[in-house]
Amino acid sequence: MQEIPFLDLKRAYFEYGEEIEKAVLEVLRRGIYLNGPETASLEEKLASYLGVKYAVGVSSGTEALYLILKALELPAGSHVILPSFTFIATSEVVVRAGFTPVFADIDINTGNLSTHSVKTLYEKLLSEGKKVSAVIGVSIFGLPAELPALETFCKDRKLYLIEDICQAFGAEVAGKKVGTFGIASATSFYPTKNLACFGDGGMVFTDDYEIYRKIKVMKEHGQTSPYFYEYHGINGRIDEIQCAIVRVKFKFFEKELALRRYLADLYTKGLKNLAPEIKFLEPLPQALPAYSLYSIRVKAREELIKFLAQARITTRIYYPSPLHLQPVYKGLGYQKGDLPATEKLCDEILSLPFFPYLRDEEVEYVVEKIREFYGR
Ligand SMILES: *Cc1c(COP(=O)(O)O)cnc(C)c1O
Repeated sequence: MQEIPFLDLKRAYFEYGEEIEKAVLEVLRRGIYLNGPETASLEEKLASYLGVKYAVGVSSGTEALYLILKALELPAGSHVILPSFTFIATSEVVVRAGFTPVFADIDINTGNLSTHSVKTLYEKLLSEGKKVSAVIGVSIFGLPAELPALETFCKDRKLYLIEDICQAFGAEVAGKKVGTFGIASATSFYPTKNLACFGDGGMVFTDDYEIYRKIKVMKEHGQTSPYFYEYHGINGRIDEIQCAIVRVKFKFFEKELALRRYLADLYTKGLKNLAPEIKFLEPLPQALPAYSLYSIRVKAREELIKFLAQARITTRIYYPSPLHLQPVYKGLGYQKGDLPATEKLCDEILSLPFFPYLRDEEVEYVVEKIREFYGR
């Protein structure tokens, strides 16, 4: 077997590269490079796919999250509850927007926020006299978070639920698309994401007209009419070339989603019952995951990584260290042991080669090598 890449973006490109080249050339020749018909059309398509009223294309998933936080105009001194097992963008924007991130623990079986832990943290913060204004629900690796429960929790306490769906575009839970719970959601078109462009890009989704209008203005320097500024804004636009690329890729999105689910099942079937040492991230009941990654939990991780590398199989660790223990957040005062499930998952998680155009034989080969590793 040849080398098995962790992710090969070129394989996807050659599935529909010609169509993308044509679409990009059209943009180049049209001469409208920002705020044009590609952006408008993509916003409309994706809003309708999710079943929300409004979408705003922005320059990245990070800025999508940032703009949501700014548009909500949370009170000064607000704390925002979020998982520590996520990409740093989720917490980075809280700090940049002027608020304090507070990390709740996850359910180690799903990798996502435990509603129970969110509740305990919320009550502790209140008892300390702190203001809590929002919760960011992240659907990690494409597995839906406990969104129905988080939504109820937030509604009952008048907190905003914000969704980070950067890894989960296309996923569903309880019969609803991820990204439609809560006040607004943010996705990313970073090249490795489920629905991606060939650079940076992102989108905000919401049913709330006021938030939509503010974000539309704020991603354009806060400009409400030429050279008049109503809000503190940013240069947060997405460009027409990237939107044209996503528009082509979206035609293949359902097919790719089905491939992701198929390949994830193939891995699970192959690995389940293979060795009790292997544990899985379990989708919630009633969830249709959008697998952006396929990850397992193992104790002998370093040894397994080395063994697979010798078989020319590339694996990766998402994430080796939780956010609450990152040097940048030293000032927040967290200690090792504060979020046991999160820390344990960081010690055990291992992502296997995964992308829609990975071949069945390649998955089977990876499974075979893992079987060999455990001596079965
Ligand atoms: C990728 C990602 C982001 C940030 O998206 P960018 O487009 O890279 O800015 C935010 N949150 C999560 C969970 C992500 O995976």
